[in-house]
Amino acid sequence: MRKQIYIIGGGVSGLVSACYLKKKGYDVTIIEKNNVSGGRLFEFKEEGFHFNNGPSWYWMKDIFEEVFLDIGISKQEMYWLIKLDPQYKIVFPDKDMIIPGEYSEIRKLFPINERSKLDSFVKESKNKYQISRKYFLRYKNLSIFEYFNWETLFNIFSFNFHLSYRDYCKKFTDNKYLQTLLEWPALFIGSSPKSVSAMYSILSYSMLAEGTYLPAKGMIEIVNLLENHSKKLGVNIKLNESLIDYKIKNNKIINIITDKNIYQDIEDIICSCDYNFNESLLPDNYKTYPNKYWQKLELCPSCILIHLGLNKKLPTKDFHVLFFDNNLDHHLNCIYDQKKLPSEPLFYLNISSKLSLTAPYDCENLFILIPTGPGMIINQKDIEEAYKYVINKLETYYKIKLKDNIIKKKIFKNQDFSSRFNAYQSNAYGLTCHPLQTAFLKPRIMSRYINNLYYCGQLTNPGPGLPPCLLSGIVTSKYLIQNKGQSNRFKIGESLTLILSIFIRTFSFFTTLKVFIKEILYIFFNYLI
Ligand SMILES: Cc1cc2nc3c(=O)[nH]c(=O)nc-3n(C[C@H](O)[C@H](O)[C@H](O)COP(=O)(O)OP(=O)(O)OC[C@H]3O[C@@H](n4cnc5c(N)ncnc54)[C@H](O)[C@@H]3O)c2cc1C
Repeated sequence: MRKQIYIIGGGVSGLVSACYLKKKGYDVTIIEKNNVSGGRLFEFKEEGFHFNNGPSWYWMKDIFEEVFLDIGISKQEMYWLIKLDPQYKIVFPDKDMIIPGEYSEIRKLFPINERSKLDSFVKESKNKYQISRKYFLRYKNLSIFEYFNWETLFNIFSFNFHLSYRDYCKKFTDNKYLQTLLEWPALFIGSSPKSVSAMYSILSYSMLAEGTYLPAKGMIEIVNLLENHSKKLGVNIKLNESLIDYKIKNNKIINIITDKNIYQDIEDIICSCDYNFNESLLPDNYKTYPNKYWQKLELCPSCILIHLGLNKKLPTKDFHVLFFDNNLDHHLNCIYDQKKLPSEPLFYLNISSKLSLTAPYDCENLFILIPTGPGMIINQKDIEEAYKYVINKLETYYKIKLKDNIIKKKIFKNQDFSSRFNAYQSNAYGLTCHPLQTAFLKPRIMSRYINNLYYCGQLTNPGPGLPPCLLSGIVTSKYLIQNKGQSNRFKIGESLTLILSIFIRTFSFFTTLKVFIKEILYIFFNYLI
C-alpha cells in the first residue's frame, strides 16, 4: 500500500496543506473531528438562518488569492468578492464614525493636520506589509540562522519590533479617534494593543489602504472553495473522526489512532489542530516543549458568540459595527487580569443578512461577539447578564424593540471552543502576537524529536487569522517536501534556537538546563529523556 500524508484537522490551514501536497503528487488524508470542514470557520443552519460561527472580516485579499493560485485554484474558480463601502462603523461614547471603503475618503474623517499623520502611518506600514508578504510571512522560523541574510538584516529595523502596537500608533497621533482606528485591529491578534508588536501594523494598513471585503455568498465560501478543490484533487476527507493517540517507534509516528481506526500506512503527519492538544498526546520525552513553556504563553481572547434570528428587519444599513463606547482597556483588564466579564462589555455586531442570504425573507441574522479571557469559565449567570446588556444596548441604539422579535437564539462560549476544537485554554484565535511570541519564539512548524510530525495553523508561524493560517499551510507543506528523508538530530541551529526560545519564554534557568541536557543526549546519543 502506498504511504499517506495525514493531516489532522480540516480547518483552513489543514485544507490548504492537503491541496498543496496532493498537487505535488502525494496521497493525502484529512482526519477531522467535527462533521464539517472549516474548523473555526463554520456555519450551522436552522430554519432558514445560516449562522456563521467564526470569521467575518476579510482583509489582505491578495494573500488569499496568492494561496489559492499556489494550490491550483484558477482565478475563474475563485468566488466573487464584494468590496464594502462603508467598511464598518465604530460607536464611540460621544459619536459614531463610519469608515468609508476608500482611503481617500477615510482621510477626510479627520482634521487636516491629522491627515498627513495618517498618510505617514500608511506609508510606513505599506513598506512593512510588502516586505512581510515577500519574506517574513514565509519564513520557517526554525533556526535563527535563517535571519542571517541581506533582506532580513536590511529590513529588520523598519519593523519597529521594540515598540508595541499602541506606542507605534501614538508615535503618529494623539487624536483619540484616529488612534482607535489605527490600533483596534490589534485585538484580532492579541490581548491588547499594548502587548502586540508594532510589526503587525500591517493589519491596519490592509484595512485602511486595501479595504474590507466579503465573499458574495458569505465567509463560508472560503471553506466551500477549499473543500471542493481538495476533493477534486483527490484528497480523502474523513469527517467525524478524532485523533486520540499515536504509536511512536525510532523517532517516527508509525500508527495514528483515532476513535474509529488505527492507521498504519503513515509517511508524514501535519497537525493543524491545536498544537498543545497534539503535544499532550505524546509521551513526555517526545514533546518539543516543556509544560512551563505552555504555561507562559499568552493566548488571544476567547469569546461569547450570540447568534440571533429576528422575524423583522432592523431599520439600518449597518453590517460590521464595533461598540467601543465603553473603555477598551477596562474590558481587557477585566477579562485577562480579573478573569471576569465587565458589567458593561464591549462587543462587535455583524448583521450578516444585510449583505448575504443568511436569513429567511424579511428576517435578520445577528452575530454578536463579546471578547472573554482565555481559560475563563463562563457560567449561565455571565451569559444572562451579558445577553441582557447587549439587547438593551441594541434596543436603545437602534431605537427598536428586539426581545419579542427574537425567534432563534444560539450561544457559543469559551467551553465550547475547548470541546469542539480541543482548544488550549479555550482560545478562539490562537497565540497573541506579543514580541516574545513572534518568529522563532512561536511553537515550531516541526516537532524537534519526531521526524515525521509537522504543524500548521494559528498556533504556529506566521500566526492567527485567515491569511496567516492559509499561508502556514503552504509554508509547512513546502518544508515537509524539502525535509523528506532527513533526520532532525544534527540540526544544530535548530537545537540552539529551541533552547534560546525556551529560555526567553520561560525565563527559567532550570527548565532551560533540562532542555539543554535533553538536546545533548539527543544529538550525541540519540537518547531522549
Ligand atoms: C469567533 C472567531 C472570529 C474570527 N474572526 C476572524 C476574522 O474576522 N478574520 C480572520 O481573518 N480571522 C478570524 N478568526 C481567526 C480564524 O478563524 C482562525 O485563525 C483560523 O480559522 C484558524 O484556522 P486553523 O486551520 O489554524 O485552525 P482550526 O480552524 O481550528 O482547524 C483545526 C481543526 O482541527 C480539528 N481538530 C481538533 N482536534 C482534533 C482531533 N483530535 N482530531 C481531528 N481533528 C481535530 C478541529 O475540529 C478543526 O476543524 C476568527 C476566529 C474565531 C473563532
